[in-house]
Amino acid sequence: MARGTMNHRFIRILRLYPLALALLLGVAYLLGGFSNRPDAVLPKNVTYTMLTIFMAVVPLAFMAAFLVIGNSSDRKFLQNLRGQDGFDYGSAFDLPSEEMHGFKIAQIRGKVPTLTGLTGDPYKADDSAKCELNPEHVPPVKGCQCGFHAFKDRDEAAFELTLHPKTFLLDVDLFGLGFVYSRGYRAESQVVNQLSLPKRCMNCKVLPVSRFISRYQFGPEYEGWWQWEVRCVICSSVTPTKNRMEIADMQRALGISFLKD
Ligand SMILES: [Zn+2]
Ligand SMILES: [Zn+2]
Repeated sequence: MARGTMNHRFIRILRLYPLALALLLGVAYLLGGFSNRPDAVLPKNVTYTMLTIFMAVVPLAFMAAFLVIGNSSDRKFLQNLRGQDGFDYGSAFDLPSEEMHGFKIAQIRGKVPTLTGLTGDPYKADDSAKCELNPEHVPPVKGCQCGFHAFKDRDEAAFELTLHPKTFLLDVDLFGLGFVYSRGYRAESQVVNQLSLPKRCMNCKVLPVSRFISRYQFGPEYEGWWQWEVRCVICSSVTPTKNRMEIADMQRALGISFLKD
């Protein structure tokens, strides 16, 4: 059984403990376990021994079990870290603790505008990463790609921007457990500080931007999505009004401020 599943199962059983204790007390009372009557079905000393075991030994056994499970997960975590480039840390507490501030690119997709990674995973301005491949992962996990990624250098993210049209440059802070690579970070949670609004229309590349528009894009499997881009007055005028959004409204919808550079 996987350690995560074992942990969940233990916690479920542990929740029943107070109920079982109340039941035991009730039954002991009914059987006269607390009275000094010589004819009681349950003698007083037997009741006390039973309760001592239940109230002290059972929780201690659970604590020991949790310690064993916890220890084996720590060992597994360190095993995963060892022998891999740049991750030779003797203890989980020796992981680098530098401030993880970085840059990345994202699209804005959805009928309700949502920041979306190039992999198609949507996220909020302040969010924790989820692993799409393994529900037991608490990102980031070594050997998996889960977690929020960011470049250390703004120029690297800006270069990616030129390779992927209809994407925006984000300034982010990463938090929680994080892996530090030479060019960037991968971490548990992320706060988007700012989105750099392009100077020029994403369509004509000549005129200054005026508003956002959304168009339906067809994906490879017929499934599509609403894709948002920012355009000039002229290029956005052909889009129906219901598919347009003012820049200020987009900032509110995403919950982040835009940097006009
Ligand atoms: Zn994962
Ligand atoms: Zn234009």
